[in-house]
Amino acid sequence: MTESSIITLDEESLQNNVAFLKKKIGKHVIISAVVKANAYGHGIEQIVPLFEKHGINHYSVFSYKEAIRVYNSLPAPHPIMIMGWISDEDMIDTIKKGIEFFIFNTERLQVALSYAKSLNTKANIHLEAETGMNRSGLNMNELNQAISLIKDNEDYINIAGFCTHLAGAESISNHSRIQKQLKRYQQMLTVLKKNDINPQYRHVANSAASFVYPKARMDMVRIGIMLYGFWSSTEVFIQYINNRANKKDPLDRILSWKSQIMSIKEVKCGEFVSYGLSYLAQTNIKTALIPIGYASGYNRSLSNKGIILIQDQICNVIGSVNMNMIIADVSNIPDAKVGDEVVIIGKQNGLEIKVSAFSDISDQLNYEVLAHLSESIKRTVAKKQ
Ligand SMILES: *Cc1c(COP(=O)(O)O)cnc(C)c1O
Repeated sequence: MTESSIITLDEESLQNNVAFLKKKIGKHVIISAVVKANAYGHGIEQIVPLFEKHGINHYSVFSYKEAIRVYNSLPAPHPIMIMGWISDEDMIDTIKKGIEFFIFNTERLQVALSYAKSLNTKANIHLEAETGMNRSGLNMNELNQAISLIKDNEDYINIAGFCTHLAGAESISNHSRIQKQLKRYQQMLTVLKKNDINPQYRHVANSAASFVYPKARMDMVRIGIMLYGFWSSTEVFIQYINNRANKKDPLDRILSWKSQIMSIKEVKCGEFVSYGLSYLAQTNIKTALIPIGYASGYNRSLSNKGIILIQDQICNVIGSVNMNMIIADVSNIPDAKVGDEVVIIGKQNGLEIKVSAFSDISDQLNYEVLAHLSESIKRTVAKKQ
């Protein structure tokens, strides 16, 4: 391996997840694959062609930059939807390329309209409703302002969607808050319809909401974490699996992250390892140096806590996580040697290091661990046999 570490995407697992989600969510509901944050760390350029191959043809991103990366990775033109940031300068290219975007305040609508006019074309917009998350979106007043702007500029606007985001569908404790949001959404939709505005797609659900609140599926769902093989929370998984005979997790993790041993050392009893005094060898030990660190996305809070796999055995990370290196205790592997494969996330024979294993230890969300995987790590695809 010439790279210090490598991320591999397993095509068969991706195919499995897409098939499972399509079956559960139903064929009349569009699945928009959420590929923000470099496709949850998986790599936009690598995963988009795979999603395409296995039947996904709608994409959601956070920013214009990500949208362009998806645009350039698509073998055929399919809808791309920007849920967040577009600078005014990038708005013109966004509209030119037919990329769709959320309208979360009236200023955004005015900017979009002025560029659509200058291009003499239609901007493809999704009106985002503020229904109770209090993060982004139009409240009832702003919706009414938007309606009159839309009415005055019908030649320059295409209402591709009406949407909102639910605040925490992955936890039952938010149940009544979510119900209120859904009710407010319907009220606002009624206002749109009274004004003869019929959005093409109604969409409110992320992964958790698609499973916990089936009526929230509407015309389209925006699925991120589950496509990659993770449940939004243990609660959502348990709710799904509870009344099933087969308790096996139907999702497969797509991503694995592997490195190799860079150097081996003997450390004498009573010596400290790595920076500072956090790890003291209690006996004579053998250590392996591994060329990944917090710069690659291995959180520093895994110092003295992380685990990795070498030669089908679990080894502990000892001492502090450095910028580019970690050290593992390999005393239990007498013939551990330079070049041996090191699994940081993923499987080695029967054993597996799950993202959840290291997110639990380091008090991060699955989402966080994945999003932190450095873009500089090379991504490859393990093609289906
Ligand atoms: C990130 C995001 C999603 C996807 O959420 P998952 O929990 O990963 O399915 C959906 N909608 C919006 C607005 C988002 O920001």
